[in-house]
Amino acid sequence: MNTHAPDAWVARSLRAVWHPCTQMKHHERLPLIPVARGSGAWLYDHDGRRYFDAISSWWVNLFGHANPDINAALKDQLDTLEHAMLAGCTHEPAILLAERLSALTGHTLGHAFFASDGASAVEIALKMSFHSWRNRGHAQKNEFVCVANGYHGETIGALGVTDVALFKDAYDPLIRHAHVVASPDARQAAQGETAADVASRALADVRRLFVERSDRIAALIVEPLVQCAAGFAMHDPSYVRGLRALCDEFGVHLIADEIAVGCGRTGTFFACEQAGIWPDFLCLSKGISGGYLPLSLVLTRDDVFAAFYDDDTARGFLHSHSYTGNPLACRAALATLDLFARDDVLASNARKSAAMRDALAPLAAHPNVRHMRERGTLFAFDVAFDGDAARDASRTFSRRFFEHALEREVLLRPIGTTVYLMPPYIIDDAGIAWLAQRTRDTLDATLAEHSE
Ligand SMILES: *Cc1c(COP(=O)(O)O)cnc(C)c1O
Repeated sequence: MNTHAPDAWVARSLRAVWHPCTQMKHHERLPLIPVARGSGAWLYDHDGRRYFDAISSWWVNLFGHANPDINAALKDQLDTLEHAMLAGCTHEPAILLAERLSALTGHTLGHAFFASDGASAVEIALKMSFHSWRNRGHAQKNEFVCVANGYHGETIGALGVTDVALFKDAYDPLIRHAHVVASPDARQAAQGETAADVASRALADVRRLFVERSDRIAALIVEPLVQCAAGFAMHDPSYVRGLRALCDEFGVHLIADEIAVGCGRTGTFFACEQAGIWPDFLCLSKGISGGYLPLSLVLTRDDVFAAFYDDDTARGFLHSHSYTGNPLACRAALATLDLFARDDVLASNARKSAAMRDALAPLAAHPNVRHMRERGTLFAFDVAFDGDAARDASRTFSRRFFEHALEREVLLRPIGTTVYLMPPYIIDDAGIAWLAQRTRDTLDATLAEHSE
């Protein structure tokens, strides 16, 4: 690999690889990083240039690239069992992982259904909810509810509960739309209002819908605490607690999509813990394998499992994916959970959050920065533009910022005009100070260019 110049790799990639979430034409000028290797929080290109992975490679990496502990576990697993089907067979990595995740929910969510990516986990939760109602004689409960600006993946079923126009509009005729309820985004707070006030207003909207229609509704799906893909909109935990109460009152399932916010990202292992509730379905992916391998799971309760348990095959949940419960992916997840326990990661992350808050304080006071916000080791802020150029500037801001960040050895990809930092948990104090400074430098460079 190293015998080729980086530019040659980029050119070949742009011919042969159709990159995700990308208008390929933008790469006529937008850089593409030919990653040669990774180590800790750093990615290295074929020229030996390095980039600090400040967004954990799309939010999946928790303990750094080429982590020695996860690597050792995977090498052992590779020589033991690389894969076996999970229908008619079972294996230790899947069993241990299901048991350990169940224990982390106090055994409330004691049944784990495996898949490979986040969107599939969402589809599974939707299908399971509907099918469990149907098995109990409530087949009319076949509608879903999602929250405004929610994101749950990009397969056609997952898009039905996603409310991000950019990803959804082109496929509108293909989609079976969910009901959309008001966003609890705390940025909507009026003067003198708290995040909890915004949450209770949003809950009133859910109640209104449930009063009218809960007999037709199977489940409501929510990203607890942070709506990540829509620009890191954060809400008060009372919103999630209120959803649980409303779902109980009206007989609707609650699906917590913790694909991005789970695995310690918001400060607790599951975001729902901060609301003091458990959902009926909890979707996990992204960080669960430490960022190593595609793995997702849906955790659910005894009563849901019981609704399928029958002599009749068709009453079973017959969903499957070829790589369901892949042993390598499960083993990476077990090694990841081992690191949480061994290094008391949630406690040390709490210290890192405080250090990040201090380091980002000057940026929070920047004249163009609005709504610096945080949950655990996840920080985000919005960039405001002044003057006539504002609209154009905001359209290209994300790409320009990405480029300026790369020049400063940082991998950051703003969503629209929202910049977010989601570093791997191995970041240290020096790394935090460095990252905060580089983020500020990048912002200033990007803004200076816009005002030219
Ligand atoms: C990333 C994400 C998904 C989709 O996961 P994929 O693995 O990309 O299919 C679903 N929900 C949330 C909240 C996500 O952040």
